[in-house]
Amino acid sequence: MYQKVKGFRDIYGLEARYWNKVEKVFRQTFRTFNFEEFYLPILEKSEVFNRGIGSTTDIVEKEMFAFEDRDGTQVALRPEGTASLVRAYVENKLFSTPGISKYYYVGPMFRRERPQKGRFRQFTQAGIEVFGSGGPSIDADVIYLLYKLAENLGIQNFVSMEINSIGCPACRPAYNEKLIEYFKSNIEHLCGDCLRRLDKNPMRIMDCKNESCKKITADAPKAVDYLCGECRDHFDGVKSYLDALQVPYKVNPMMVRGLDYYVRTAFEMITDRLGSQSAVGAGGRYDGLIQLLGGPDTAGIGFAVGIDRLVSLCMLNETEKENDLDVFIISFRDISDKIALKLANEMRSQGVSVDMDYDFRKMKKQFSLADRYGSLFTVVLGEDETAKGTAAVKDMQAGTQEEIEIAKVTEYITDKLRRN
Ligand code: ATP
Ligand code: MG
Repeated sequence: MYQKVKGFRDIYGLEARYWNKVEKVFRQTFRTFNFEEFYLPILEKSEVFNRGIGSTTDIVEKEMFAFEDRDGTQVALRPEGTASLVRAYVENKLFSTPGISKYYYVGPMFRRERPQKGRFRQFTQAGIEVFGSGGPSIDADVIYLLYKLAENLGIQNFVSMEINSIGCPACRPAYNEKLIEYFKSNIEHLCGDCLRRLDKNPMRIMDCKNESCKKITADAPKAVDYLCGECRDHFDGVKSYLDALQVPYKVNPMMVRGLDYYVRTAFEMITDRLGSQSAVGAGGRYDGLIQLLGGPDTAGIGFAVGIDRLVSLCMLNETEKENDLDVFIISFRDISDKIALKLANEMRSQGVSVDMDYDFRKMKKQFSLADRYGSLFTVVLGEDETAKGTAAVKDMQAGTQEEIEIAKVTEYITDKLRRN
């Protein structure tokens, strides 16, 4: 017997149903905001991530599934979507279309981190990116979209939104200096990773999950206190648009993002319902990234949400059933097998979900199958009925039964389903 690779998992049954629902709601919601789907490759040259995510990040330092291809090319399974999408945007010269570009993607990501509940080595993200607008109104609308996803899934009560501004290349250096000074005076509490990052990327220390580091970051200088005038105006703008949209949020001055390329607005949707894995979705502005990956100087903002964790939240609501089938047809070999096959597909073409027993077993066995599928109606094509050209249609919830002409069964069922 084979076992799956550590940190990878199979998704089926009830969880797969919720998964389906989440993806459906996501696609509908993205469309209402005029986002276009972008299908990205799963494998990229490692360089895209090394540069696009940043060489001092956890992802690049230790989490990538990176390897050398047979021809010597360094490639990696994508750990996130933003760098890939920016690569695609630049490579396909999509920046030459006037106005802003809005894209979304849904798909698996790979990070070689320690597997635990809510943390896997293959997980699925849905994300959006907006290229070409630097103003605070799009920041607010993007944060609103993240909130709206939760609302449309009915889990808005399980999550909360935190926002922050982490400055820009103009004001970040002064802040970094303050941070370095502060961490140097607490150097004995820093973990090995943070010691290495201290001079190169001190803000990353704020994002460290090590308990000892977390304790000292609580009193560290805050980026919001060192913002330049433009960043301050931008942040005030974001907040006032969010207020206008009535998005519930909290400013968390300690929140930074794990990736190198973020500027100004950073935000995170968190939950306290999933144990230690509290981040459901996160994003921010990354105005320098498109240029960094070879494109023109174009503003960008986006977010990614973890579908695995969102599905777990949705499952707390118990809205989906393991099985739901509209109709199960009970039929018998040489008596009604062909009628059943035809009727099943006649109903399916009307959008009704239908199944039957292809082994035409005893009536009792077939009823228990109908039960297992949770069918709303059972259509029995027994010997007596078919001789008369009729079927016995049972409403499994009401417990009632009616005899219907076979030719009229589809109409009868679609009518009943419409009324339900
Ligand atoms: P965390 O703080 O949990 O490590 P992150 O900051 O690394 O999250 P992002 O890179 O911002 O996460 O990815 C966005 C979302 O993707 C997260 O909020 C989370 O829901 C999900 N996610 C990230 N890594 C994993 C993983 N290994 N397994 C499952 N979901 C994940
Ligand atoms: Mg992480």
